[in-house]
Amino acid sequence: MILTFIEERKGALVDTSLEALTAGRRLARASGLPLAALLIGADLERHLPKLREFGAERAILVESDKLRAYSPAAYTKALVQAIKARSPKVVLASATALGKELLGRAAARLDLGLATGCTELSFQDGRMKITRAVWGGILFAEVELLSEPRLLTLAPHAFPAEPEPAPNNRLEVERLEVPLEEADLKLVVRELLEAVRKGVSLTEAEVVVAGGRGVGSEEGFKKLEELAALFGGAVGATRIAVNNGWRPAEEQIGQTGVRVAPKLYFACGISGAVQHMVGCKDAKIIVAINKDPQAPIFARADYGIVGDLHEVVPALIEEIKRLKGRG
Ligand SMILES: Cc1cc2nc3c(=O)[nH]c(=O)nc-3n(C[C@H](O)[C@H](O)[C@H](O)COP(=O)(O)OP(=O)(O)OC[C@H]3O[C@@H](n4cnc5c(N)ncnc54)[C@H](O)[C@@H]3O)c2cc1C
Repeated sequence: MILTFIEERKGALVDTSLEALTAGRRLARASGLPLAALLIGADLERHLPKLREFGAERAILVESDKLRAYSPAAYTKALVQAIKARSPKVVLASATALGKELLGRAAARLDLGLATGCTELSFQDGRMKITRAVWGGILFAEVELLSEPRLLTLAPHAFPAEPEPAPNNRLEVERLEVPLEEADLKLVVRELLEAVRKGVSLTEAEVVVAGGRGVGSEEGFKKLEELAALFGGAVGATRIAVNNGWRPAEEQIGQTGVRVAPKLYFACGISGAVQHMVGCKDAKIIVAINKDPQAPIFARADYGIVGDLHEVVPALIEEIKRLKGRG
């Protein structure tokens, strides 16, 4: 069995869990093993149609009112019990904060190997080939896990979510009883608070206008906001711009920030350090604006504009407005 942990957040399935389920389905089809989805929480039956849509053949539900909110110890207990009861060959989860914590805990509890941030998986001659991103995503390592089940967390967006029901469209539902004690519920997540932000989210934006040290000030970012707004896009920043207090931390793109994959990425006053570029390497088109023709960013950009961003960005804004005005 390939067992995929499916995460629920605020009543909906997390998108990257559906990516994990898609990856699990591919492994299941390649290996001839059944694909099972593990859901932990309360009122879980409402998610069954989605699991069917993505090809799960079994749904293992660990349901209790006590599991309505995430509790690391209780969820780990549920996962460990599911692993012991069903003996899967592979256990997958998306590398979200919760997925990473849960599989890490289960690996420690069961003394199993865990490969984190996997980007490719395949079965070859009965062996499982695992590729995972290391060094912040600038290198890829091929690893083999010798213990079984193999525990894997999958890098978000490395496996696109694609629905495809099982050939017979059947989904067997089984329930697993996990006795919970007070000690399992010592730590419970009471509430998840969304970061307050205006407009489209950075990770989902199709156009990102990012600024670095070259922007020069918090005020300087106003023009970048204006450019982003013209595209219905979002503003991002380098660590320097965040450290200088010009932009909030959640806008930092890179190794220690968020990863983005927009269709169009403007890099304004950004030198192109590797720690920044790992966060935007999946952008379809990179446009760099930098006054230094030797800036490393130009080697990574599809289009480069050598010039002062304080002149180039307003000129772009005017031109785009003019084109929009023409309809
Ligand atoms: C462990 C580690 C993790 C890190 N994680 C991250 C991360 O997640 N994200 C991140 O971004 N960085 C990260 N960094 C920092 C990274 O190494 C760089 O220092 C940083 O990305 C540089 O930011 P910058 O491009 O804004 O600044 P700089 O490197 O100083 O570049 C500024 C650029 O602006 C240009 N410029 C200046 N004025 C103008 C102007 N008026 N018009 C046009 N161009 C102009 C300059 O020519 C220059 O190329 C990390 C570093 C380490 C060690």
